[in-house]
Amino acid sequence: MTVLLKVDKLEKFFPVQTGMFSFDRRKVHAVDDVSFALTAGETLGLVGESGCGKSTLGRLILRLIEPSSGSVRFQERELTTLPAGELRALRKDMQIVFQDPYGSLNPRMSVRETVGEALRIHKLAPRSEEQDRVAALLKQVGLRPEHMHRYPHEFSGGQRQRIGIARALAVRPKLIVCDEPVSALDVSVQAQIVNLLKDLSSELGLSYLFIAHDLSVVEFMSQRVAVMYLGRIVELAAADTLYANPRHPYTRALLSAVPELVPGGNKRRLKLMGDIPSPLDPPTGCTFHPRCPDAQPGRCDVERPALRVLEDSAHQAACHFA
Ligand code: SF4
Repeated sequence: MTVLLKVDKLEKFFPVQTGMFSFDRRKVHAVDDVSFALTAGETLGLVGESGCGKSTLGRLILRLIEPSSGSVRFQERELTTLPAGELRALRKDMQIVFQDPYGSLNPRMSVRETVGEALRIHKLAPRSEEQDRVAALLKQVGLRPEHMHRYPHEFSGGQRQRIGIARALAVRPKLIVCDEPVSALDVSVQAQIVNLLKDLSSELGLSYLFIAHDLSVVEFMSQRVAVMYLGRIVELAAADTLYANPRHPYTRALLSAVPELVPGGNKRRLKLMGDIPSPLDPPTGCTFHPRCPDAQPGRCDVERPALRVLEDSAHQAACHFA
C-alpha cells in the first residue's frame, strides 16, 4: 500500500499573550508529538472532545497554520519546509471541507464562480469548458447543473455542504481533510452527506482525514480511527478493533457514551470525572490521570505513557496498563 501522508512528531504550541507586548512563559499545547501515516484511498477517523486539537492537526497537515516542530510528508515531499510557490501547487492535491458550509462560501460568489475558481487558479480547464466541468461536479455531488447560477443563501445547509465538496473535488485532490463536515447539519441531512463522502471515496480513490466528535459517523466512514486527548493521540487502531476492544480508558469512556441502537441494552456508561484540563497547564505524567478511573498514584501522575504498539501490531495505545 502506498503511503500518501506521513506525520512525524508534529507539534504546535501557541504563545499566550498577556499584554500588548508581553507573553506568558507558558504555551498552549494544541498538538503534541503526533505521528501517524495514511495510505492512498484510506480514511482515518480522528475523534476526541472539543478542544483536543483535532482541527488544529488538520490545519497543520495542510500547512494552513505553521507547525512548531515535526514533519509532514505528503507524496514523499516534506511540506513543513516547502517554499510557498511549490506549496501552492501541491495544495491542489490536498483539500479541506469545513464544518460551517455557509461561512466557508463567499456569499457574493455564485456557485459557478465558487467551484470554477479552483479550476481557473490551477489552470485545470480552458475557459470554454469551465461551465461543463462545474455542471459535472454539481451532478457528482447530487446537485443540478442549473444550481450553478444561484448564490449560497439560496441553499439549505446540506446543499451548501455539497457545494463545498464540489469545490474541493474540482481540483481532483488525493487527500481531503473533512473537518467536522456534518456536525452543523440536521440529523436527517447528515446521513446523506456522509453517504456521499463515502461513495466519492470509493469512486475516486480519495483519502480522508475525517475529523468528528460523533463516534458512530466516524465508525461508518473510517478504516482506522485515532483518538485524541489534550493534543496527543492516545489510541489508534482499525475501526472494528477499536470499537470492539478499546484499550485506553479514555476511548472506553467515549464509546460508552454512544447511545445504543437497541433499547434496553446493557451497556454500562463510564462517567468521566471532572472537566478536560487546560492545555495551557496540562497535568503531569499521563495527562488523562485526573479523570481516569484506572489511574495508579505514583505512576500515572508522574510518568507519561508513550503511544506504544500492543500485541496486535496495528493497535497502539498510550496507557501504562493497556
Ligand atoms: Fe489511566 Fe494511568 Fe492509563 Fe493514563 S496511564 S490512561 S492515568 S491508567
